[in-house]
Amino acid sequence: MNLVEKDLKYIWHPCSQMKDYEELKPIVIERGDGVYLYDKEGNSYLDIVSSWWCNLLGHCNPVINDKIKDQLDQLEHVIFANFTHEPAIKLCEALMEIIPKGLSKFNFSDNGSAAVECALKMAFQYQYQTGHKEKTRFMCFTDGYHGETIGALSVGSLDLYAQIYNPMLMDTIRIDAPDCYRCPYGKTRDSCQVECFVQAEKAFEKHGHETCAMIVEPILQGAAGMRMYPSRYLQKLRALCDEYGVLLIADEIATGFGRTGKMFACDHAEITPDIMCVSKGLTGGYMPMAITITNNQIYEAFYAEYKEGKAFMHSHTYSGNPLACSAALAVVNILKHDHVLEKATVRAAYLNRRINEALLHHPHVGEIRNIGLINAVELVKNKETKEPFSSENRVGYQIYKAALKKGLILRPLGDVLYFNPPLTIDEEELDEAIDSCVSAINKVIG
Ligand SMILES: *Cc1c(COP(=O)(O)O)cnc(C)c1O
Repeated sequence: MNLVEKDLKYIWHPCSQMKDYEELKPIVIERGDGVYLYDKEGNSYLDIVSSWWCNLLGHCNPVINDKIKDQLDQLEHVIFANFTHEPAIKLCEALMEIIPKGLSKFNFSDNGSAAVECALKMAFQYQYQTGHKEKTRFMCFTDGYHGETIGALSVGSLDLYAQIYNPMLMDTIRIDAPDCYRCPYGKTRDSCQVECFVQAEKAFEKHGHETCAMIVEPILQGAAGMRMYPSRYLQKLRALCDEYGVLLIADEIATGFGRTGKMFACDHAEITPDIMCVSKGLTGGYMPMAITITNNQIYEAFYAEYKEGKAFMHSHTYSGNPLACSAALAVVNILKHDHVLEKATVRAAYLNRRINEALLHHPHVGEIRNIGLINAVELVKNKETKEPFSSENRVGYQIYKAALKKGLILRPLGDVLYFNPPLTIDEEELDEAIDSCVSAINKVIG
């Protein structure tokens, strides 16, 4: 049996209809270097999606590699209750310099969904312990995505991931998310006065009193199809949350660490959430780690004599893993010392110009939207009416397969193709990605 046959014998791959693998076999990757991955036959693949949005500074980045290797010979893991270690402490110190002002307490876990669960429980218990036992519900956006565990699914609302599990989920309050491409108020991005915010106002009027927190993906709803909304919306939401005593949880798992051009998406609106979740880019895509970050006020509501029972009894075996902390510390230092964001901003402008030149006039390109290096191309059946392709056609998936043959990993969200590359990608690599993407599109819907 070769490796692929053995893979199919044993492995149940994530987020996949395994029957699709009969036709498109799993690709065995042997090594990575920068933005490229190489399979066993020596074929190269340009990883324009950062291996599920987490690879931040290239595969096998020599600096991060060295830091992990050094740590490996010191300490691989230690219980994090009552024990600690230098990499975790130094990491928090380094993060304090780049996170939104006012956040100061770090609770470690090992994946994005876990960080969201932690945020939800923390918010709930905070309200309970500060005299608001009636605040038991959560608000979230329609088309939001916060991970796959039961709590995270409850505050997400993409039917693709959640619908079948509905009977298992919490009853959350959903607010229509801004939909700027198909604005129900008939506005364009230029004429927008955040008219849709009235939906949030109505929901808070009705449910604010019973709500402990609202969770959002700030500025960019990733899994919804890289949908982007104005920072003004987020500013208004911050104010509304304060008015109703509702905590604001910012899920920066996809947007953190420079993905949107600023260090965090919240920085576009110059707001500080009460709780912020980070993961993905945190370790440069090396190690599973996440942090739920909050402020002193929330922390203080749990700080009491043991017998009062106010502690946050929440833990994960791999909380604060030293190898992951070393990777993350290396990432934050590289971001700082190598001026990664400034350089990425220049290439982001280049990418956006080139992608518009190549695709804006295509008869099936409805919109090209961008923030930072993230560029999304929404394909539609009818450019005038914005009518989508029928989902049965799986247009995005056909383009994904065509792009793979050209050595580009696209992995679209439905019919939204997107680039979300490592921040270190260069212009030549961007050109290659655009060329392969355009020819894959033309092959399928030319
Ligand atoms: C990926 C993602 C998550 C979930 O993270 P996992 O590590 O996959 O559990 C949560 N929220 C957002 C916005 C994400 O993009």
